[in-house]
Amino acid sequence: MKIAIASGKGGTGKTTVAVNLALSLQNAQLMDCDVEEPNCNLFLKREMEPITEVTSIIPEILEENCTYCKKCSEFCRFNAIATLPNKIMTFPALCHSCGGCMMVCPEGAIQECEIVTGIIRKSTTKDQNGPELYEGLLDIGQTMASPVIGEVKKYIDPTRTTIIDAPPGTACPVLTTLEDVDYCILVTEPTPFGLHDLKLAVEVARILKIPHGILINRSGSGDDSVEKYCADEGIEVLMKIPQDTRIARLYSEGIPFVEEMEEWKEKFMQLHNSIKDRYGKREEA
Ligand code: SF4
Ligand code: SF4
Repeated sequence: MKIAIASGKGGTGKTTVAVNLALSLQNAQLMDCDVEEPNCNLFLKREMEPITEVTSIIPEILEENCTYCKKCSEFCRFNAIATLPNKIMTFPALCHSCGGCMMVCPEGAIQECEIVTGIIRKSTTKDQNGPELYEGLLDIGQTMASPVIGEVKKYIDPTRTTIIDAPPGTACPVLTTLEDVDYCILVTEPTPFGLHDLKLAVEVARILKIPHGILINRSGSGDDSVEKYCADEGIEVLMKIPQDTRIARLYSEGIPFVEEMEEWKEKFMQLHNSIKDRYGKREEA
């Protein structure tokens, strides 16, 4: 079963929920799809090895063949090519590798060029029952996170429980991450700011038709606006993690709190079992 952990914005405790949940399960996988800043391993502290590179195809202009007709730049909806009267420029960071400019060029003046945009890494060390960790890492200066996320997801083992740490926000990388997951836990804080971003995240889950529930982190630190919203919208509050100095201290030391507060392992296991019973696929044992 694939369970994604998402939030409308960063800093809500999404990664700590993903790590603590994965550590509470037997033989799980943990996929860090927050490829601009993969943080799960800050808590797991594993040795990681690169297992594959992620590449993209971008256009390379053969300027000696170019007549500056502008067909390519007019075609490119991402503004990744600019044609001036005597000059043509490409902006690889904006390119979505659609290949369209190469197709519309009447002069054969554009050829494919392969560039590396990120890598996928896998943990080489493993606790006895700890999760197998995969992470995607977008190269500095690259903006196309989705292909890297798609590559991380290729390593999902359908016979195991997979916890997926999604990127923050609600843009394309989040959609790529949430595509095909069985359930989404939306992590939020009990504040008006948290509620604002939560509403956006709920909208995404609804559009993608993904069953979802809410986990309130730092419960007790704000107001009851999130709980009121969940009650009004009929969204299940799955768990509340209290504002707790011990949890905060462990977090600041990079220690997953289930490792020192064993009772939470049981709570996360129950959370997983409850989700699996209701939303797991029948073929999974
Ligand atoms: S490959 Fe597509 S996105 Fe990239 S520059 Fe060409 S038209 Fe634009
Ligand atoms: S379509 Fe081809 S010929 Fe026209 S401006 Fe672009 S690269 Fe040059």
